[in-house]
Amino acid sequence: MIHYLRDFISLIYPELCNCCGQNLHHNETIICTHCLAQLPVRNDHQNSQNELLQLFWGRVPLKGAFAYLDFKKGSKIQTLLHRLKYQQQAAIGIWLGFQHGLLLKENPIYQKIDYIIPVPLHHSKEKLRTYNQSQKYAEGLALATQKTVSINHLIRTHAGLSQTQKTRMERISDTKSIFTFKNNQNMNNKHLLLVDDIITTGATIEACCTEILKNTPNITLSVATIALTKDL
Ligand SMILES: [Zn+2]
Repeated sequence: MIHYLRDFISLIYPELCNCCGQNLHHNETIICTHCLAQLPVRNDHQNSQNELLQLFWGRVPLKGAFAYLDFKKGSKIQTLLHRLKYQQQAAIGIWLGFQHGLLLKENPIYQKIDYIIPVPLHHSKEKLRTYNQSQKYAEGLALATQKTVSINHLIRTHAGLSQTQKTRMERISDTKSIFTFKNNQNMNNKHLLLVDDIITTGATIEACCTEILKNTPNITLSVATIALTKDL
């Protein structure tokens, strides 16, 4: 019955692929099979010296770093991430996190993660967008891997300019000290996975890690992101 109903509804309001815009079949969700097969999935979970980890060498000590996709301007991934961020498609974030989680759950570094911590939006921006896209990605990861998401420890204290309004250098210098880490529960000796939707220069993650380590030196940090890019 549910299937009939769903098919009937999709005849009137067809669900569309969030990458290419084609109608989705009833066994497809978020994106079509064709786009799914073409996703530029990275192998970071199998490469302990991957490009994302190397991005942070000499900046902050990370145990592991995992990017799910390669992002290029004008690609289908850009459409997907734009819908997640600006068009109220929170389910895309959960879906991407879940897909990434399926790859990560066998990784020995990932298995030792205690908490997943999304990079916070400033509360004024979160109110405007109604959700934090990085938190949706974190929820998908947690769902696939039976981990816990914490949003109460890392707080963004300043809104700052939007990333698109700034030059690359401004982005690097502006992200210092806009975060506060509240170690109100005992985070000592825990392994945290910081997650952000897109990583470009790594400045935001670096600012978060620096703040966390300042308050809690004996903590282990890893990083995950939906997409790594040099194009922004
Ligand atoms: Zn498609």
